Amino acid sequence: MTTPHEKPPVIIVGGGIGGVATALALGRLGLPVQLLEQADQIGAIGYGVQIGPNVMPMLERLGVGEAARQAAYLPEEILLYEMDSGRKLVDIPLRTPQFHARYQGAPYVAIHRVDFHELLLQACRAYPNIDLNQSTQVVGYEHTAGGCGVATADGRFIEGAAVIAADGLRSRLRLQLHPGDSPRDTGYLAHRTIVPMAQAPASIRERRGVTMWTGPGFHVIYYPLRGRSEMNIVVVVRVPPDLDVTDNERYLEHIAALTRRAAPEARDVVQLVNLERRWSIADREPVRRWADGCFTLMGDAAHATLQSLAQGAGMAVEDAVTLAELVQSCGHDFTAAFKRFERARFLRAARVQLESRDLWDIYHCDGARAEVRSQQFEEKSADDFYRCLDWLWQAPPIRT
Ligand SMILES: Cc1cc2nc3c(=O)[nH]c(=O)nc-3n(C[C@H](O)[C@H](O)[C@H](O)COP(=O)(O)OP(=O)(O)OC[C@H]3O[C@@H](n4cnc5c(N)ncnc54)[C@H](O)[C@@H]3O)c2cc1C
Repeated sequence: MTTPHEKPPVIIVGGGIGGVATALALGRLGLPVQLLEQADQIGAIGYGVQIGPNVMPMLERLGVGEAARQAAYLPEEILLYEMDSGRKLVDIPLRTPQFHARYQGAPYVAIHRVDFHELLLQACRAYPNIDLNQSTQVVGYEHTAGGCGVATADGRFIEGAAVIAADGLRSRLRLQLHPGDSPRDTGYLAHRTIVPMAQAPASIRERRGVTMWTGPGFHVIYYPLRGRSEMNIVVVVRVPPDLDVTDNERYLEHIAALTRRAAPEARDVVQLVNLERRWSIADREPVRRWADGCFTLMGDAAHATLQSLAQGAGMAVEDAVTLAELVQSCGHDFTAAFKRFERARFLRAARVQLESRDLWDIYHCDGARAEVRSQQFEEKSADDFYRCLDWLWQAPPIRT
């Protein structure tokens, strides 16, 4: 695919947030980049995403900090309530001087994925060396004399200097690197909806932060987007093994039973959600090996996580910036850079995966475990929560 005079491109497989952020990070170094996305449009599923204060410094490095700040909503706090009793268990302020001092002025933001994706794409379009391709499904990678290339479903072989697999949770290229490795299904389903704020009941309309209700095998989370003109809602449900989810009536009865004793606001918010649109929730086991010479995994393909810490997209952006800085400091030696990349990122990504699982269990537990959880949360001050989250919310140093 390249003429002898052209420098072969870095091939990025997947045009999600991870792939597009990586294209931008490498494009800014002046490298030729070819991004290949299987869908007929490079775009995001239209729901919200929370971005912790660790991510804004990365967006600044990508030159999109200002655009992200403008598109973002800044939630006032994270609140967690017990679903049946209505007890407030957690209150983490996000816009106080203490928060700003602790996280060097970087905000916690909520942003529409479409806006986030679009601002990254817009920045990519300013670089003629970034070539964005859709309708291109990759079926495998292969090392070549000059680097690494990919085979596509329509029978082409595209040669590159290196290949970066940003093909998400169900990554085909990860399966090639780690045969037999598959996503870990949790048995939970998520339902996502965005409603115009004007259509939400008053108690929900008044919310200015990230609000969450927790119950056995169930949680609901919602936060405003786009200047509080919209409310993003996610409902997560554990599916009992004997429940056939294709039996819609029984599934809806199950949710009705789960929310029967819920506080009125939690019940109201579930009423707003389209329960027929479903995503099964899965993550990955941490693996140490992401690189294979001048091929590497990144983003969800390397370390897909449950959303309890709201950091999957954030980790993908951190990966993108780290990858580019290592490629530069290794003088464009991709094999060396990718080896250092997996070493630099493994522990942080694995901790996000494993702490997200712990938190997932804490959110959905029952009986005595839930009572202990609630007491432990209530004992914590805002400072205690910041201390627990510092390892994550402080932007990581990039060791080049
Ligand atoms: C309900 C829910 C809520 C979440 N909330 C948050 C949150 O608040 N904050 C946060 O940071 N994260 C959140 N996440 C996680 C976040 O969405 C992901 O971690 C993030 O989108 C991963 O980005 P990615 O680019 O690695 O993968 P993806 O977004 O999955 O992108 C992969 C891309 O690769 C393409 N692709 C796949 N296979 C091929 C192929 N063979 N050839 C070519 N293209 C291919 C796909 O079409 C896709 O466009 C949430 C996830 C869920 C499910």
